[in-house]
Amino acid sequence: MKEIVVISGKGGTGKTSITASFAQLAAKESVIADCDVDAADMHLLLKPDFASEEAFYSGQLAHIDMEKCTRCFKCKKACRFNAIHVDDGVFSVDEIDCEGCGYCEKICPVQAITMYDALSGKTYISSTRLKNTLVHAELEIAAENSGKLVTRVKTLARKKAKEEEKEYLLIDGTPGIGCPVTASVTGAHYVVIVTEPSMSGLHDLKRAIELIGHFSIPAGLIINKSDLNEEITGEIKTYAEEQGIELLSMIPYNENFVKALVQAKTIVEYDPVLKETVVDTWNAVKKNIDGI
Ligand code: SF4
Ligand code: SF4
Repeated sequence: MKEIVVISGKGGTGKTSITASFAQLAAKESVIADCDVDAADMHLLLKPDFASEEAFYSGQLAHIDMEKCTRCFKCKKACRFNAIHVDDGVFSVDEIDCEGCGYCEKICPVQAITMYDALSGKTYISSTRLKNTLVHAELEIAAENSGKLVTRVKTLARKKAKEEEKEYLLIDGTPGIGCPVTASVTGAHYVVIVTEPSMSGLHDLKRAIELIGHFSIPAGLIINKSDLNEEITGEIKTYAEEQGIELLSMIPYNENFVKALVQAKTIVEYDPVLKETVVDTWNAVKKNIDGI
């Protein structure tokens, strides 16, 4: 089983539209993982059934038992994150501000404070309208540690892909180059980078290529909206060539990307001309990865 991760450096490049189209073209031979857990939207296109769910806990939060609390104020004075509030003599912990350091628990003279595992999100294993398996997740509002949630999604997706004896695990990676995208690409056999010809697109592309360079993962490039700025498209092509990144395809600006999204369709369903380009691109990805 080979892992293919689609990343973008920056958001808004059409990454998820392209990944969902790959998912459709490879429906019989792949399991899909939506690792864009901060802004998961693959489910909007693939319409999963949310058949099974699992709570995901990460980090800790403090809880104050007011039956035991003597209102000495030690914890409130000691908390450097100002996470302990007092209202009408009742002490409570703000779940957003609490960093889970555990200091208040240690200094409370009457053991009124306990730490508990914080619910950070949920993972789901679903069957999609394309009849393939999608492993996806939802991060709780203001929850952190999305890198760990990405790793959990990938672990579940790898297990499913092996159980179902699929050839590919197709991963919709996270935008940016932080911890979640590092978690997305770790262990991948091939990375597809989707970019666009803008200054921020070029800047973030360079950072994404630098990141995957650390892991020595072979990669291919899709330049979406390639006709919007031919000068920067030229710079992107030159940079990719210098870095040994294969140019998989250039897709001129096409408003059907947005129209397809509005109708909750993949671009290969919506536009027959775009379909040809995406089919050629997917075949190029498969050829590259089958040779690894
Ligand atoms: S340190 Fe303990 S006893 Fe003192 S206010 Fe905080 S919870 Fe209450
Ligand atoms: S665990 Fe740390 S951050 Fe949270 S309330 Fe206690 S001292 Fe403050």
